[in-house]
Amino acid sequence: MLIVFLGAPGAGKGTQAKTLAGKKNLTHLATGDLLRAEVAAGTELGLAAKAFMDRGDLVPDDVMIGMIQGRLASPGSDGLLLDGFPRTLAQAQALDEALASAGASVDQSIYFKVSEEELVRRLAGRSTCPDCQRAYHDTFNPPHRADECDDCGTSLIRREDDKADAVRNRLKVYGTQTTPVLDHYRTAGKLVEVDGEQAIDAVQEDLAVAVG
Ligand code: ADP
Ligand code: ADP
Ligand code: ZN
Repeated sequence: MLIVFLGAPGAGKGTQAKTLAGKKNLTHLATGDLLRAEVAAGTELGLAAKAFMDRGDLVPDDVMIGMIQGRLASPGSDGLLLDGFPRTLAQAQALDEALASAGASVDQSIYFKVSEEELVRRLAGRSTCPDCQRAYHDTFNPPHRADECDDCGTSLIRREDDKADAVRNRLKVYGTQTTPVLDHYRTAGKLVEVDGEQAIDAVQEDLAVAVG
């Protein structure tokens, strides 16, 4: 099974992906998490990607497509959950082609629909575990102990790209470069919309129904 999560920055993709992947034994592939790991490790790819990420711009397609291709066949799980990829039409087409050559295809894409006002509230209050990448929110989803990850105890951080200027740019980039991806899957009859504006548990319930 191959599921693609779509939605703006802050829509709740990562939060829902962690739960769904655990429940359905899917491998959770989050390109943002993979990139941040490259940055933290100081690799060449990480160094090249960091400036784009900090500004809230997209990392170039050839880098992203190269990064995902080798990971599409992942043993030891019942399928893949792609979170944060594809983010451009070129990435969506490259994904279709890579899957087609392996006799596979995207089974379903889930679009988490959230208003811009709510996205800004979520990103402004987000803190993130630099170790396991779990996201928290100051008011909507606080950790049990202040500034500490519930899962691994690591001190939480604020992402550089969750600052106001970068957030504005990310939302703009999403509107111009990523919204065409929604139409790509809609046209293919593979887009399911979930009301992402609801509380985390309610979104989780709707998602479970959508995925079946
Ligand atoms: P969020 O889900 O909060 O929008 P991510 O963690 O998915 O953020 O991504 C963080 C940053 O990593 C993006 O702003 C972008 O710079 C880069 N990135 C992640 N995925 C992609 C992608 N598929 N294409 C290009 N850039 C990406
Ligand atoms: P994305 O991966 O789409 O960028 P995240 O899962 O990181 O989004 O969520 C963004 C922020 O919003 C985090 O601070 C998270 O705790 C919070 N959040 C996620 N889902 C909800 C929700 N349904 N209601 C309120 N806050 C949420
Ligand atoms: Zn953690």
